[in-house]
Amino acid sequence: MSRIESEALVVRTVEFGEADLIVTLVTEQVGKLSAIARGARKGSRRLAGSLEPVHTVAVMLEDKGGDLATLKEARVVRARTGLTGRLDALESAGIALRWARHAFPPRTPEPQGWRILAELLDVLDGGDAPPRRELARAGLAMLAALGYALDLEQCVVCGRPCAPTKAACVDPVRGGLVCRSCGGASTVLLPELRQAARVLAAGQGADVTDEQAATLLQLVDRAMAAHAGFER
Ligand SMILES: [Zn+2]
Repeated sequence: MSRIESEALVVRTVEFGEADLIVTLVTEQVGKLSAIARGARKGSRRLAGSLEPVHTVAVMLEDKGGDLATLKEARVVRARTGLTGRLDALESAGIALRWARHAFPPRTPEPQGWRILAELLDVLDGGDAPPRRELARAGLAMLAALGYALDLEQCVVCGRPCAPTKAACVDPVRGGLVCRSCGGASTVLLPELRQAARVLAAGQGADVTDEQAATLLQLVDRAMAAHAGFER
């Protein structure tokens, strides 16, 4: 039996039995894993009130390497109460946590993915930036961190580069641009938005309108769904 101590985000809770919860966590140290939280619904003092999403919690787990670890202790170390008070921020946080729940591989540390997720929640908590744009940026960066980066420079089928000044068809399920000779795709990115997407994927800032952010979010969500095998 090993003991795991880490910061974590709660990405899912499911009621179990009379008093327990099954909690899915994305942890900084060991990546995604599920654990049973005994007594969590009966007000266990070791877990009290800490199993809400969006707050960073410090967890202590006992792990026998099976499907479920045991969550022994959890306490909030970074409360994001600014986020929980705003519906648009909360909605964006929910989408990001859903991506993480599905796309992070089990029991594999993903330090970069962890950082992107935690930083997004901090930005949403601060309330200074448009939530959908920040979500689009985090989503593009998270895809890259997990090894699913969209290729926005060349056709993923034939490898032909696409000049930065040209509009391009993107198929997120196939992983990026698909040129017209290779069949194209239904989503077309104009040069300006394609450039913005590349900048955002690199973790930098780019101005996009709400409508452009929505287009990028669609791409990210479809790519996540394709890689992680969830229904959109
Ligand atoms: Zn091609």
